[in-house]
Amino acid sequence: MKKEGAARFPLTLSSVVDVKAKSAGVRSNVKVATPQTATRNAVQDSVRVASLKQAISQASSPNNANKAGTVKSTVMSNSTKHIDERPTPLVSEGVRKAMVARIAQLGVRDVSVLAAMEAVPRHLFMEPGLASQAYTDSAFPIGHHQTISQPYIVARMIEIMRDNKQGGVLQRVLEIGTGCGYQAAVLSLVAKEVYSIERIKPLHELARVNLRPLRVANIRLHYGDGMLGLPQAAPFDGIILAAAGLEVPPALLEQLSIGGRLVAPVGGRHQVLQLFERVSKYDWTSTTLEDCQFVPLRAGTI
Ligand code: SAH
Repeated sequence: MKKEGAARFPLTLSSVVDVKAKSAGVRSNVKVATPQTATRNAVQDSVRVASLKQAISQASSPNNANKAGTVKSTVMSNSTKHIDERPTPLVSEGVRKAMVARIAQLGVRDVSVLAAMEAVPRHLFMEPGLASQAYTDSAFPIGHHQTISQPYIVARMIEIMRDNKQGGVLQRVLEIGTGCGYQAAVLSLVAKEVYSIERIKPLHELARVNLRPLRVANIRLHYGDGMLGLPQAAPFDGIILAAAGLEVPPALLEQLSIGGRLVAPVGGRHQVLQLFERVSKYDWTSTTLEDCQFVPLRAGTI
């Protein structure tokens, strides 16, 4: 069934994806998508991936190049125009494909997630000095003692969230911890609407600047304390936390739709990825997955 959907992507993922493998690999209480919904999702996703790719190629088109070896992407910021130079080799799809191959090797099987990871130019979310390392599978500093998450864990969390009883359909998702906006961009390719909250004002603004040239229409960025969630936009089919608390804030569990999935790192020095699924108005199941390493979840705004 995944094969049918995967064949419709404009991207050649077949070389890196074992399409016969089970989709998301959560080791308990997982239901499998129907072939119909999986195919429909794949088609929807391929449309979104294609339009993001178009926006990306426009944002870094040769018309914006000022000299050989560099590409300029133009970012409009209120009335000021900020020109940002990035080296061209990073725009190559080859390095991104290699990163996706690595993520697939590590066990991510969901072709929609792999396609989204391949479509988003991670180097545009990193400081120019670190951009040459953008397609290595590591976290990197983004300022304010925060990091851009490791690509594998970004893909893995989204895969787990998508492995729901709705066959991967996600109307509305919430991310806690926008940071530089990278994961929000990946989410925008697998969900209809993405809400993302950041508690550090300069990072909230950085994400805005990073996302603007990609012209992603379905992301809404909020500045605030994500531990409170976003009651005005709830319920969410999926919630992802990009920062680790000692427990998952109860407000976020309350804002899950029935059948919705929340994926979060939980712990202090030792952290594990946890999946919560809302099974009824009053019941949630919880599953502990693999070890992980995230920056801390903190209350309040700065
Ligand atoms: N999503 C990012 C990862 C950012 S790191 C990516 O795409 O790579 C995690 C972010 O969570 C940090 O920017 C941190 O400031 C933020 N954060 C921590 N606690 C938070 C809270 N209570 N509400 C909102 N954001 C929070």
